[in-house]
Amino acid sequence: MKSSLIIIWTLFFTLGLTPKEKFYQVITSHPEDLASLRPHIETVHQSGRLWIVRVKNTLPKGLSPHLRELRGGEKSFTETKMIPLIEDETIKKYIQRVDPELIKRDVIKLSSYRTRKAGTADNLEAIKFVTSRFHELGLNVSESCYSKSSCSVIADKKGTHSPEKVIIVMAHIDSVGRSFAGADDNASGTSVLLEMARILQDYPSKKTIRFFVTNGEEDGLLGATFYAKTLEKENKLKELDLVINMDMVGYNSNGIVELETDPEYEALSQWYAGLASQYTKLTSKITLGAWGSDHVPFLKRGVPAILTIENWDTKTPCYHLSCDTPDTLNYEYAGEIGKLNVAAVMAR
Ligand SMILES: [Zn+2]
Repeated sequence: MKSSLIIIWTLFFTLGLTPKEKFYQVITSHPEDLASLRPHIETVHQSGRLWIVRVKNTLPKGLSPHLRELRGGEKSFTETKMIPLIEDETIKKYIQRVDPELIKRDVIKLSSYRTRKAGTADNLEAIKFVTSRFHELGLNVSESCYSKSSCSVIADKKGTHSPEKVIIVMAHIDSVGRSFAGADDNASGTSVLLEMARILQDYPSKKTIRFFVTNGEEDGLLGATFYAKTLEKENKLKELDLVINMDMVGYNSNGIVELETDPEYEALSQWYAGLASQYTKLTSKITLGAWGSDHVPFLKRGVPAILTIENWDTKTPCYHLSCDTPDTLNYEYAGEIGKLNVAAVMAR
């Protein structure tokens, strides 16, 4: 308690703020939203996905959903503490199998289904493609449909000792649905997920590994929210040991991965940063204050969840635009994120 107070007071001192002021986190990236917000906000801090602002006067109606009152995000100003880990030879052996060329092949394939907006013919074809890949790997495949034409795919690799404990590896397959490819957002995450499923095929995991390809993320986290609610109704949320989300893991030039969760899971993010330094070439940036992707509905329900995402300061300039194509991506970088998440599944 004391130390967290010190952190907060240090922040106020450093930035010359008074504790009475209210701070908000910006929780949208859509250019139109940002354009309408900008006249009304002042930036207090901006680094990666954590953008903290104060409101100048009163915020016009309709803009408040894009801001969230800050609760604990101050902690993000502290330095990342690495938790030293003992190198595990088995983990090293498995992560060596990550093949950036195979990730690239799948990004090109998924991007060939042009729009992939949930419910469209392209989206359905993409769903068929990942489903057949899961069948080839001998996984137990099922669907979670939130509407007649919009389904997410679930593929289980049953645990050997504690099959009732589940680690979810998740990525959304849909895109915003203009006439463009959505290579980075999010053929990249889906392809790394498929690569993880291939690599872990013969790994005798104690816990169940659940590959969860979500749908309708771009329409408001629909598939992930529906599934989280389903598990909640069935009283099965407690089975979830960890949820790993990959959304936009392909565009990068600086080797930084953002690890995003909520402040109460700070220790999880530090453990993850430790894995990144131990097993990958990535540099971690921890952002506490989750928003805007499929990890959110799980965090909201008390499930430990983390987003791995490209550095938001240098994110693709083609975000939600028709130039988000496979040739713009860095597949070595995507492979490093694959290694990180394989290591996390194995070390958990
Ligand atoms: Zn996305």
